[in-house]
Amino acid sequence: MFRRLSVLRVSKMRSISTLLQSKALVNGSWIEASNKDTFAVCNPANGEVIGKVPNMGVEDAQLAINAAKQAYESKEWRSLTAKDRSNLLKKWHKLIEANTQEIAEIMTAESGKPINESKGEVLYGNAFVEWFAEEARRIYGEVVPSGTANREVIVMKQPIGVAALITPWNFPLAMITRKAGAALAAGCTVVVKPSEDTPLTALAVAKLAEDAGIPKGVINVITTNKAAPIGALFCQSPDVRGISFTGSTQVGKLLFRDSAQGIKRVCLELGGNAPFIVFDSANVEKAVDGAMASKFRNCGQTCVSANRFFVQEGVYDKFVTQLKQRVEALKIGDGKSCDVQIGPLINQMQFDKVSGFVEDARSKKANIIVGGKGLSDLGSLFYAPTIVTDVPATAQLYTEEVFGPVVSIIKFKDEAEAVHKANDTQRGLAGYFYSENLQQVFRVAKRLEVGMVGVNEGIISAPEAPFGGVKESGVGREGSHHGIDDYVDIKYICMGNLKYD
Ligand code: ADP
Repeated sequence: MFRRLSVLRVSKMRSISTLLQSKALVNGSWIEASNKDTFAVCNPANGEVIGKVPNMGVEDAQLAINAAKQAYESKEWRSLTAKDRSNLLKKWHKLIEANTQEIAEIMTAESGKPINESKGEVLYGNAFVEWFAEEARRIYGEVVPSGTANREVIVMKQPIGVAALITPWNFPLAMITRKAGAALAAGCTVVVKPSEDTPLTALAVAKLAEDAGIPKGVINVITTNKAAPIGALFCQSPDVRGISFTGSTQVGKLLFRDSAQGIKRVCLELGGNAPFIVFDSANVEKAVDGAMASKFRNCGQTCVSANRFFVQEGVYDKFVTQLKQRVEALKIGDGKSCDVQIGPLINQMQFDKVSGFVEDARSKKANIIVGGKGLSDLGSLFYAPTIVTDVPATAQLYTEEVFGPVVSIIKFKDEAEAVHKANDTQRGLAGYFYSENLQQVFRVAKRLEVGMVGVNEGIISAPEAPFGGVKESGVGREGSHHGIDDYVDIKYICMGNLKYD
């Protein structure tokens, strides 16, 4: 057995111990890897080992695919009505809700996310289970007026079959529920491969799915720190009909390419490079609030985080001064303390990337006005909330997705320049701007080349809204009624030779 963190010992130990799993879920059984290999899950705040989980290989992934296929074809799943599936999702939703604190503690321990944010993620992620429980009953077909006498044109939506879901560490629960909720609502079965950094949250919600009575094999979760061969298997297997992936653009491109062989349904939610524009017409106080929320949630490690701040000349000094005060007041530390706002970065690779980007900007004559260094007295993965101004377009802070607590600010003169610079990237996930000018609001909202726009808002994701990007930020939409589309096939049934005379 593994040593558990003190944060997990202090309160509600019994509940947490039943949610903390050390095995993976395949075909309704909690199993080890076939070769018995395991890997450790560590707390990024202090490096402590929280748990160990199976380090599964392609044989184990194949078992999970087989289980999902068998479950998809089984009477226990296929014979369920949309209302039955909806009720199962509602039960899962209730159980996640009842265990919010326990799940949040696991999430904070493995991801470093401040506990209040973890609780917020449970609420947010669980809202997708609720939403798709409701949508399950509204996957409507059509009867289209026929152009031929004695014929009816009937269109129905049917589940695609087995879907493979590959999820990242930055939203260990929500990225699973946003995909699995839609898949199950549509009548699919799933194999989930969570991030190697945060498998414990995934296993905890899978345990609750089991408790909710979701039939065996409908949700399978496999854990591994060798993702590539398993991703390749998902792409190759004829039994996997769809792949939904949230993660890096690099891996997304690989999966997109490899899944072409089997013409699979692919939904990709990839990286962004979100512009955050503050116009002279903005309410600066609101813009600063939005900037703090958009940038510093999850220590800047979200794909919709504002990445490049474009601030117009007339409000530049005011915005920068106010933002600096707010950034200096942020409380940094181990996310288990309720007052902490900024936790550690997830791993050494992320830390090196963030600090490397800031050094690159420094070497290109940008000004670091707050932060700009690691905080080794707190732990090896803590990085100071940072503001960098006069960031040149050649800096990595400008061209790449930072995924860290770094605000990069660029001054601009007019609207056309801001929109041009905002769109000058191959990424197009989210974009934000602050303006009180109605004409400008519509002009800019239409011109930004992104999938989601926040107008006078820094946090915009919601279960009823379509989440997704354009350009290299991905294909497909999650959440909203569009979130079902990737899990259903459209079937046209031609009813011919009908006798109406
Ligand atoms: P990040 O940089 O955010 O960790 P990744 O794209 O590396 O993004 O990881 C997101 C998810 O994709 C994780 O679950 C990870 O294990 C998985 N992953 C990484 N490489 C591959 C791959 N070659 N094939 C399939 N999944 C992968």
